[in-house]
Amino acid sequence: MTNVAPASLPTLIAAAADTIAAHADELTALDQAIGDGDHGLNMKRGFEAVRAEADAFAAKPLPEALKAVGMKLVMTVGGASGPLYGTLLMTLGKEWPATQDRVSVAEALRKAVDAVAARGKSQAGQKTMLDVLYPVQAALVEGKNLPEIAAIADAAAEATIPMKAIRGRASFLGDRSIGHMDAGARSSALLVRAVVETLGD
Ligand code: ADP
Ligand code: MG
Ligand code: MG
Repeated sequence: MTNVAPASLPTLIAAAADTIAAHADELTALDQAIGDGDHGLNMKRGFEAVRAEADAFAAKPLPEALKAVGMKLVMTVGGASGPLYGTLLMTLGKEWPATQDRVSVAEALRKAVDAVAARGKSQAGQKTMLDVLYPVQAALVEGKNLPEIAAIADAAAEATIPMKAIRGRASFLGDRSIGHMDAGARSSALLVRAVVETLGD
């Protein structure tokens, strides 16, 4: 995690796009239950657009590459999740530390997740992607290893099942949103697993 060489960016992008493609139907089904059923399609469109330009992103210094990938996601994912994932990566790029030690990376990630919360006017506990992103950030602070972080992300997505949605389309359902996993929490967990499995290789 601490030394993400720009050379590994195409591999990271491929891993992210692969997992989104492999789970697009599942993400769509989750969003069908308590949303409008487009999350799989939105994410697949965005990550395939990023994959198509992976070499151009990788040619940039990592902070610039993160910002550019974030902008591409804003332009291509659409929905609520596009601007939110875009904000995450653009802020991570803006805050990316010169000294890429775990503490500094965790600090940058904290600012990035806080920026998502600000953009979404949301916070943890409202049945959104934040319910995965905050625990992952905390796990990084706590010094958890990469496989542990992936497991924490999966468990955090599962933990959205009993939550009542307070933000996003699912909030329109009120109590009827209870009992389903949040689609954005699931896509976040998938992306976290793809990243840590790539870095852990
Ligand atoms: P849309 O809801 O516009 O169709 P998507 O289906 O692509 O967009 O994404 C929905 C996901 O976005 C939700 O499952 C949730 O995780 C996330 N989301 C929606 N609104 C917010 C918000 N205000 N803050 C944080 N995450 C949100
Ligand atoms: Mg949707
Ligand atoms: Mg939609």
